[in-house]
Amino acid sequence: MRNLSLHGVLCAVLIILIFTLPSCAASEPSVTSFTAMDTLMTLTVYGDSKAADRLEDRVKALDERLSATDAKSEIARLNADGTAVLSDETAALISRSLSLCEALDGAFDITVYPAVRAWGFTTGDYTVPSDERLAELADLIDFHSVSLDGNTAALPEGAMLELGAVAKGYLADISDDILSEGGASCAILNFGGTIKLYGSKPDGTPFRVGVADPASPSSYFGYLSCPPGVIATSGGYERCFTADDGTTYIHILDPSTARPVDNGVLSVTVFTDDGVYADALSTALFVMGRDAAISYRAAHPDFSLILLTDDGALYLSDDIAADFTLSPGCGYTVRTI
Ligand code: ADP
Ligand code: MG
Repeated sequence: MRNLSLHGVLCAVLIILIFTLPSCAASEPSVTSFTAMDTLMTLTVYGDSKAADRLEDRVKALDERLSATDAKSEIARLNADGTAVLSDETAALISRSLSLCEALDGAFDITVYPAVRAWGFTTGDYTVPSDERLAELADLIDFHSVSLDGNTAALPEGAMLELGAVAKGYLADISDDILSEGGASCAILNFGGTIKLYGSKPDGTPFRVGVADPASPSSYFGYLSCPPGVIATSGGYERCFTADDGTTYIHILDPSTARPVDNGVLSVTVFTDDGVYADALSTALFVMGRDAAISYRAAHPDFSLILLTDDGALYLSDDIAADFTLSPGCGYTVRTI
């Protein structure tokens, strides 16, 4: 099988471009780039030369705690043993995630992990499971089956969980304390597709963020001017493979079928001030598909939405329509919802 993955260094750098850094603060920023959570992260901080290093330490420690593929992590131990006593932090993130699984009606489901593994998305050793196997996997996926009693978690036989769809959003949320303790004035933290914008630019202008074009992820279909907050993008182009029969399979799975999503959505970007919510939402709205995603936004206008479908339609929530600029020459048709 041919691996078409753009995930990794190139993808993480280019998913979203922040290009307002020079005006962020008068002094030079401290910048650190490193790989964690299977992606390249680039952290840029103004006004505190130590904050980027503190953030990097925190990210790496959290990765060790949460990584489903690191046998020593809390999540891997839970998956291997079926039960584990977790740290307060991991238990709290699982608890929050379970609430979001419920609120998003199972389109986001942290127990999708056995299917993620079966398709080979954890190793790059891709396979198309048989229909029988997919039916078994779909039966295993059910966030209601996770038991969390204080810090003790338990899973039924065969079930496994992972927090990959929200971990980067969680990093965005815990960054506030790390940045404020050293008095940082402004930060752009690219956690590999989930971007945290912190503080304010001295000139008072908004941040400007480019959103990757799935047709060519090294370029941008447009730019969003926005206040501080978190921008999370889920795109099929981030990690996918093409099977021998020419079918392309993406890394975002429909929990009800255990199969990669194939519903005409190409990318979903969510902007809000809550990173875990933004990250879970971008994944869930991708799974829901265009119509359900638009309905969800209508019922929950507490976030901004940019959704691109394979017919070239670009849906923008009404709150940001005036703040979004389509790239010159980009042929997408903007529709305000
Ligand atoms: P990325 O991690 O590439 O930024 P997402 O935030 O959309 O993208 O998360 C996708 C990851 O989450 C997948 O790689 C997979 O591990 C896991 N995942 C896939 N589908 C789902 C789903 N429906 N609910 C929860 N997690 C999912
Ligand atoms: Mg996500």
